[in-house]
Amino acid sequence: MRTLTLFLIACLILAILPTFALEAARQTSMLSASAQRSDGQTPTLAPTLVATPVPNFITAESALWTPPAPVNRTEGNFLFERPFSYRHNTYWSREYSYGSTRRGQLQIHHGLDFGNPSGTAILAVADGVVYYAGPDDARIFGPRPDFYGILVVIEHPYMYSTGEKIYTLYGHMRQEAVSTGQQVKAGQVIGYVGATGVALGPHLHFEVRVGNPESYDATRNPALWLKPYEGSGVVAGVLRDIHGNKLEGVQLELQAPGNNHYTFSYSGTRVNGDNRLGENFVFADVNAGYYYLIVKNTNGGLLHRQLIYVWAGQVTFVEVFIMP
Ligand SMILES: [Zn+2]
Repeated sequence: MRTLTLFLIACLILAILPTFALEAARQTSMLSASAQRSDGQTPTLAPTLVATPVPNFITAESALWTPPAPVNRTEGNFLFERPFSYRHNTYWSREYSYGSTRRGQLQIHHGLDFGNPSGTAILAVADGVVYYAGPDDARIFGPRPDFYGILVVIEHPYMYSTGEKIYTLYGHMRQEAVSTGQQVKAGQVIGYVGATGVALGPHLHFEVRVGNPESYDATRNPALWLKPYEGSGVVAGVLRDIHGNKLEGVQLELQAPGNNHYTFSYSGTRVNGDNRLGENFVFADVNAGYYYLIVKNTNGGLLHRQLIYVWAGQVTFVEVFIMP
């Protein structure tokens, strides 16, 4: 009986391997699309997209299912490096993801928070020109003065599909290390972690803005812009009720044996989704493989369960309808 089971598992693996090979080949041909620089040059930070599908677990369901190809219509194209070196924390707070409220405790988040000790060097995520460096008491970038404290805003040589420029914002610095108008390179130190402005403790608040660098309403989810680590990918999707309305503040989970993730949905009006993708939730830094995407109600009752596949270096897009 045990031999038969092993034989059947081996058959299932063999049955799906060719699909993976085909998909990998298809991925390679899809890697050419990337954002255009406004000066027409090839971006210096061309995304490193790796498609090496790995069956992290096999169930009867996953073995019989061919995962759809990842989407290639996000505007982010993983153009940005992390704002910290590998010796520091390069992961953001899942509790306070983009568009979330940290379970109702805080106001809607327009960026991502990276916890690191005060004084940790903050790095430019791509080449650009410093649009502004200094305090935001006289020059407003948030909902009120002295919101970001000491901040740096960088204008990058990339354009959005709307023809607008792309900016990154780094808030709550103890001190900036660059000045307005200065050219910066990816990886260059632009300031140091602090807790200036509205901050509960030392951390970097990081944003991506499109078009107007001084508009609090111009943000996009940075999780779609930061390059995933090798072997991991991004899941983006839209969570709606049965009337088609985007739902906000709903926790979504990705579950695989020994590897779980969670994130929260956002409205898409109070903070923006990507223009092309129109997502209202994103998981990032997810190891490639099969996962169950799960949505529960507040009592823990299952509202949705769906098998998905996460592609390394790519965006898997999912559309979910639930009756909350
Ligand atoms: Zn923040």
